[in-house]
Amino acid sequence: DSSSLTSLNILSCFLYLCSAEYPDLRKHNNCMASNLTPAIYAKLCDKATPNGYTLDQAIQTGVDNPGHPFIKTVGLVAGDEESYEVFAELLDPVIKERHNGYDPRNMKHPTDLDASKIQSGQFDERYVLSSRVRTGRSIRGLSLPPACTRAERREVERVVVDALAGLKGDLTGKYYSLTQMTEKEQQQLIDDHFLFDKPVSPLLTCAGMARDWPDARGIWHNNEKTFLIWVNEEDHTRVISMEKGGNMKRVFERFCRGLKEVEHLIQEKGWEFMWNERLGYILTCPSNLGTGLRAGVHVKLPLLSKDARFSKILDHLRLQKRGTGGVDTAAVGGVFDISNLDRLGQSEVQLVQTVVDGVNYLIECEKRLERGQDIKVPPPLKQFK
Ligand code: ADP
Ligand code: MG
Repeated sequence: DSSSLTSLNILSCFLYLCSAEYPDLRKHNNCMASNLTPAIYAKLCDKATPNGYTLDQAIQTGVDNPGHPFIKTVGLVAGDEESYEVFAELLDPVIKERHNGYDPRNMKHPTDLDASKIQSGQFDERYVLSSRVRTGRSIRGLSLPPACTRAERREVERVVVDALAGLKGDLTGKYYSLTQMTEKEQQQLIDDHFLFDKPVSPLLTCAGMARDWPDARGIWHNNEKTFLIWVNEEDHTRVISMEKGGNMKRVFERFCRGLKEVEHLIQEKGWEFMWNERLGYILTCPSNLGTGLRAGVHVKLPLLSKDARFSKILDHLRLQKRGTGGVDTAAVGGVFDISNLDRLGQSEVQLVQTVVDGVNYLIECEKRLERGQDIKVPPPLKQFK
């Protein structure tokens, strides 16, 4: 009849429009590009979250950044907690690819912040220069950095800074707003690896995360600069524990203690973190879902890093390499930032143990190469089934 004919016309017209909008991804190498299909796009392109965030906004950074010289990127970001539900048809397979086969449709994510379980958490300090554990946390009810309004961004800053004033003992510290810092102070904090880089990375700018910079951005840290919280960079908050040397167990212990305290203080103010049992803690980038945890070291591997098997060894150990200046920098002088690749489906304790065991293996390889002995590529760590 005529009414179904009309709706058929509207439908085909709509499909045509969607295919006319479909991005050219032929040269792309990111998880979004390898999982987006014209059919998925057609289904999701007219949907929006309750805050008005669309699929096109979510994938823009992956469209504009076909690849990255040092890591395989995800290629899409969430604008709010609901993005993960509304665009699940694309996000679920992306999450599965990025997190070693974890299936967000029927698996549950565990949390474990008991640092006493870590075994052999002290690295050989002739190789490991510094140790760091970070995560992110988002404040439920406020849009994430790619989509937040100025008012929401300032509200995040207010809520977080208010809560952090309650930290005590060795965690006592102070907030330093970017807008009140001199250029020199800011650069010093970046050079000392405490502060996020300036928002020049196209991964950030194309995702809308540098809008209004530096409004409502800043860093809170304790007096020793061993417990730090970034405000409104890629996530509402990044919580970091770090120190020089190789005592990863102590760094993780402070991380767990501080993080629990921060959550408690936020809750006391009537707010909570974005979280659900399938995805764990909800963050801007799907690569950070679950624990949000990146545990890493700056480690000297001049011989191993020149070996052709280096990348494969890292891959099999589920480790990632970056330059010591952060995600967008190349390694210099054989010193790398080596950290866990996955964040989801395994607990914080499991991931830190993966890094401890993996980095110890890499150091062992480096020592063997120094002695002129051969090294082995270890068997790959298991995938989720
Ligand atoms: P993140 O995943 O925390 O955003 P980035 O790669 O963006 O990490 O780097 C952020 C900053 O943290 C950079 O200045 C980097 O040098 C510093 N950093 C990362 N890991 C370590 C580490 N193990 N020791 C010292 N500094 C580190
Ligand atoms: Mg970063």
